[in-house]
Amino acid sequence: AATPAPSRYQTPLDALTAVYGYDAFRGDQAAIIDQIVDGGDAVVLMPTGGGKSLCYQIPALVREGTGLVVSPLIALMHDQVDALRANGVRAAYLNSTQTAADRAEVERAYLSGDLDLVYVAPERLSNAQTLALLQRGSLSVIAIDEAHCVSQWGHDFRPDYLALGGLAERFPGVPRVALTATATRETHREITERLHLPQAKHFVASFDRPNIQYRIDPKVEVRKQLVSFIRSQPEGSAGIVYALSRASVEQTAEYLSAQGLDAIPYHAGLDAGTRAAHQSRFLREDGVIVVATIAFGMGIDKPDVRFVAHVDLPKSVEGYYQETGRAGRDGEPSVVWMAYGLGDVVQQRRFIQQGDGDRMIKQRQNQHLDAMLALCETVDCRRQNLLGYFGQSLSGPRSVSEGGEADRVERCGNCDTCLTPPDSWDGLIPAQKLLSTIVRLQRERRQSFGAGHLIDILRGASTEKIRKFRHDELATYGIGSDLTDAQWRSVVRQLLAQGLMQPQGEYGTLAVSDAAAGVLAGTTAVKLRHDVVTRAGASGGGRS
Ligand code: ADP
Ligand code: ZN
Repeated sequence: AATPAPSRYQTPLDALTAVYGYDAFRGDQAAIIDQIVDGGDAVVLMPTGGGKSLCYQIPALVREGTGLVVSPLIALMHDQVDALRANGVRAAYLNSTQTAADRAEVERAYLSGDLDLVYVAPERLSNAQTLALLQRGSLSVIAIDEAHCVSQWGHDFRPDYLALGGLAERFPGVPRVALTATATRETHREITERLHLPQAKHFVASFDRPNIQYRIDPKVEVRKQLVSFIRSQPEGSAGIVYALSRASVEQTAEYLSAQGLDAIPYHAGLDAGTRAAHQSRFLREDGVIVVATIAFGMGIDKPDVRFVAHVDLPKSVEGYYQETGRAGRDGEPSVVWMAYGLGDVVQQRRFIQQGDGDRMIKQRQNQHLDAMLALCETVDCRRQNLLGYFGQSLSGPRSVSEGGEADRVERCGNCDTCLTPPDSWDGLIPAQKLLSTIVRLQRERRQSFGAGHLIDILRGASTEKIRKFRHDELATYGIGSDLTDAQWRSVVRQLLAQGLMQPQGEYGTLAVSDAAAGVLAGTTAVKLRHDVVTRAGASGGGRS
């Protein structure tokens, strides 16, 4: 018969000092560990760098039996297991990259009680053989990492996670803990429900990362902006630059290298050897900049990443938070910077429209994007907006409240809008000019156009397209010549972000939303931010 792995340490604190060399628990760690050691379930929402791993590793060392860790990324498993072994923990993993002999050895060790922890990929748990094996041995705790992957509406859904709810019935009496670094209230609810954790105790840490400074700029010449951002950081800072496509990753990395920066690309199209070499340079050498698609960085434990930059707009605030969260895990000051433009908005709306997925899914994706845009366009504190998205607020001694104003705003003092508050201006008149142009074209001529052409009409440009459609005869032709092209683009972006209009169809032509009625009637105010960077001829894309 199988033997349970013996308890290795009497108390969690013994394990903490002996195995990890730390002398105190942080935040909720002690309470979470106690809950699991006592045999209870837990749901843990803690930002990246908060110290989630100890929350299940230590119960596995204190309780009798082997801890089962469900983790979605095979590449990470390997690193985590190596790190644990280096600390004297008897850890192993079961996955598809192993030889049959290796797997048999892990199975033997598990059944003989020689393993403190075993890592498995979620898809292995829909395999009857793996489940039968686990049932023959003895588990001390089941940890489900990256638990937000169970949320169908979240940004990182993995179908294999849905089956994990069944572990509750299959392993009664084994405490289970679900952990994630990204969770809105909705995701939190889904985790609890779908992973069958009705009795769990919930631990929700503050998602604030006070050492991270948030900066978002309008896109003008993105690569030049990126270089000047990087050069504004301390010499030799390690950083990650995120881009959406492989092509954009390659080009950006080349551009940075040509500027004399130590930048290397990382994306799924590179062969495994190159990827491993690039990742290891980033981890081991100082001051390397990785330009990557978003998959990079999942679980990479490099505490001293000093900056994270986005040259394309992330699809959701969850994604943005997770990616920027890879900066400053050591608690030292770090800066995250993003450039975004009208082109990003139009492109992403189009992706959503053309993507497969039913109406509900598209609606959800649009909501994700709307929240992202609201963060980009806010004239208030970025951190406050970000925390608000997760249902939290700024609190604690760092925050200073701005007195005097009608609506008192808590400001963090460590984001671009707090450090250099953007001027806001009354955008009612330009908003009315733009929206009424769209309405007229729609009503009088059953036509719709993209941002570029609408701006040409407002600015009274004499283009071939204007002449062809006789748009110089419109009542609104030339009534917006007081603003530059770049200023109009900024207006368009902000009205899109505020939901007063939306792009539609294959070409992303602009349509007025219901919410615009109050603006057209002059009863709803329109507060717009002055872009810090506005240059005529800004390439925002989205012309049609
Ligand atoms: P997460 O999984 O939440 O992103 P990790 O578990 O990787 O975080 O922990 C982040 C870092 O903090 C790691 O380097 C870890 O060793 C360290 N850490 C965790 N708990 C403590 C503690 N109680 N004292 C000191 N360092 C800790
Ligand atoms: Zn702020």
